[in-house]
Parts: sequence; structure tokens; C-alpha cells
Amino acid sequence: MADRDPLMDRSIRELDPAIADAIARESRRQRDHIELIASENYTYAAVREAQGSVLTNKYAEGYPGKRYYAGCEFVDDVENLARERALQLYPGSEHVNVQPHSGASANLAAFAASMQPGDRFVAMDLSQGGHLSHGAAVNVSGKWFSPTFYGVRPDDGLVDWDGVERAVATAKPKIVIAGASAYPRTLDFERFAAIAHAHGAQLLVDMAHISGLVAAGVHPSPFPHADWVTSTTHKTLRGPRAGIAFARADGAAAIDKAVFPGLQGGPLMHVIAAKAVAFGLALRPEFRDYMQRTLDNAKTLANALAANGFRVITGGTDNHLILCDVTPLGVTGKEATAALESIGVTINKNSIPGETRSPMVTSGVRYGTPAATTRGMGPREMEQIATWSAEAIAARENPAALAAIEREVAKVAREFPVPGLDARTLADEAPSARHAATSDAP
Ligand SMILES: *Cc1c(COP(=O)(O)O)cnc(C)c1O
Repeated sequence: MADRDPLMDRSIRELDPAIADAIARESRRQRDHIELIASENYTYAAVREAQGSVLTNKYAEGYPGKRYYAGCEFVDDVENLARERALQLYPGSEHVNVQPHSGASANLAAFAASMQPGDRFVAMDLSQGGHLSHGAAVNVSGKWFSPTFYGVRPDDGLVDWDGVERAVATAKPKIVIAGASAYPRTLDFERFAAIAHAHGAQLLVDMAHISGLVAAGVHPSPFPHADWVTSTTHKTLRGPRAGIAFARADGAAAIDKAVFPGLQGGPLMHVIAAKAVAFGLALRPEFRDYMQRTLDNAKTLANALAANGFRVITGGTDNHLILCDVTPLGVTGKEATAALESIGVTINKNSIPGETRSPMVTSGVRYGTPAATTRGMGPREMEQIATWSAEAIAARENPAALAAIEREVAKVAREFPVPGLDARTLADEAPSARHAATSDAP
């Protein structure tokens, strides 16, 4: 005992006030803001408990039953449960690897399992709703592989199927990717698979945004159409920040080798435990209700935004996100996002079909309802958010008006607690600079 480092059992607050304060400020920000970034969510207290557990101490290179280290019997149970539940969550899936650290890592694993450097693939353009890891020039997917892009039609914002056909027929790719970060409509995976397979390509579905909707049965499943399926676990699925990758039975060895030892060393067993908890919870009826409410809220918000002068791309939404052109309100996406940030409503700027501005400015914004719905917000709050949005944009050069709306936003936000973050916890923590004047716990 004499040689034991006496600091080992102390709290962050005792040992590192700078970090403790930053966490406290972020807790308050999460409490007082209304989070409408479509890719964000609040995970379960139970998921955070697993993620903060002693499993972070364990090395477990390899897979259950085939580890390079001793003492893996309990983490094997964890990883086996995560795998079983993931497969149960997606009927028709055949094999899953639960070790990818993130969505982008899962995509790189699927690339490594199915292609050689220099091989061609077809994906949705980043500026049309695709993702960085689908061949952007600055990403390894675009530097080491050879992408050809399809997009959406400039007039109605829907997938340009002729463009998909053309890209696949001319590029003759190994892989076609279906999956997007800013597409508000249903993706027809069967049709993507038919095009890919007709040209001798495989289909990779990246369901990062919609995997919760798919699990709940409120969006068509990529199974059994896709040859590879990747996802994040922290978006609509509401688990820890991480990734997963599925393969057909005949691709199982390839995806497992691609993840480890191909791309990663030891798996994050604490995060895998948190994924297992989230998958288990997503199997419950409460999760289906949550996803249905998320969709209902998105429809209500889309209608309310349209009524407030936003031009809703594609005229509405089938999923959890809404893409809007804000130029009818006399602002750019950047200006609209800044106006909303100043009242405590968090969204992101987004390019729109036929975009004329740079990605740093844009003509549009993206709203999403998963996080607000987790806090229990419903149609009334969605209508209110649309009204506040239009008011904030109109008052963007009037600090007093913005401050008044910000107080209303914080008041409503505090009626809907962040999971696992109660008033008692916050009362113990340092006040945030930004909200110092209004920070008394509710
Ligand atoms: C969010 C997202 C990813 C990346 O996930 P990270 O965990 O941030 O790496 C990949 N693909 C799509 C379509 C996404 O929306």
C-alpha cells in the first residue's frame, strides 16, 4: 500500500478542475440548448455506465475465443452478446463485427475487405448528401481508391437514378455505396442492389444515419440486399460513439481480418459493452415508439418550417432529418446557423441540391429530431422551434431580441431533462460563463 499512487482513486473535480469545468459547461450547454443536429443524440445513462466501466483496462486483441491475451473470458461474453444482439436487431444479417471505433473506421474496413488500393467505387457526392468517407479528395477513401459520384436531381432533390446507372455502367466499380448524411427521403436499397449486381459490383450500404430507424422497422432494411453494411452506433441508434460492420457469411473472414489486424489493434471493450447495452435496448418496444415519435416530430417540424418561410427540400421528409433552403428568408446557411446558435438552437449549415455557395457558407441548413425526441419533446415544441428559428433569423442583428428568445429556449429546454443528467449533478458543478446569469438549477 505504501507505494500506491494516492491519486488513483480521486475524482476529476479534485484532480483536474480545468477538465471538470469544461465537462460541467458542456453538461449545461446540453441542458440549455435544443439539439437539432441530425447526427447527434443523447445516449442512455446505462450506456454511459458501461462506457465508463473497468472494461477500459482490458486488452483483447483478436475475437471471442481467439484472443492474443489471457483473462478475456468476461470480455468474450460482452462481445458475444453485442454480436448476437446486433444480428437479432437486423433480421437477414449474417455476420457482424462490433469492433470498429467509428463509422468512418467501419467504412474503411468494408473497403479493405472488398477492394485493393486504386480500385473503383461509386458513391453519392459529399456535396449532394454523401459522406466524407465515401471518396472525398481529402479522405483516404478518395486518395487510395478511385471514386465516381452520383447525386440528387437539382429540381426535386431525389436520387438521380439515371446518374447512378450511368456512373456504374461507365466506371465498372467493385463497390457501389448507398447511404447518406443529408438525404431526407427513403433510400431504395433493393434498386441500388439491382443496379450494382447487374454490373458485377457489390453493394455497400452505409446506414450510419438511419440504423435506428431500420432497427425499429420504420425504414426499409438494407438486408438482404446489401453485400456489406456499415453503421455508426451513436446517431439514431442512440448508443455509444462507435461503429459496426456487417458482411454476408462468405465475407465474414474478410471483414474480421480487415478490422483486426488490418486497421486496428485492441478493441475498445468498454465501448463494445456500451454497444451491447444499446442493441439490447433497441430490441425493446420502447425503442420502436421512440423512433416513430422521431419521425412524427420530423414531419411536424418540416411542415412548421415551411409555414415559416423555409423552402423544405423534396417538400418534406420520410426520416429523422429535414433539409431546407434558407435563401427565401434572406440569409445563407452560415448566417441562419449563427442566428440559431445565438438563441440556443443547434443545427448545421448544409449544401442544397444545385448549390451555388461554398461548403463553408451554403444556402441551406439541416435539422434533425432524434436528440430532441429523446428528451421527450413533441409536436408543440417542434412548432415552437420553427417559430423561434424564423424569429431569430429576422432578429439576427438585434442582440436584445435574440437574448429574449434565448431565455425562452432555455426555459423550455430545461423542462426536458438530458438522460442521466439531473439537476442535482449540475448543482454540484461550476457555473458556465455563457449562462452564468441564468444558471440556477431548475
Ligand atoms: C456520420 C456518418 C459516418 C461517420 O461516422 P463517424 O463515427 O463520425 O466516423 C459515416 N457515414 C455516414 C453516412 C455518416 O452519416
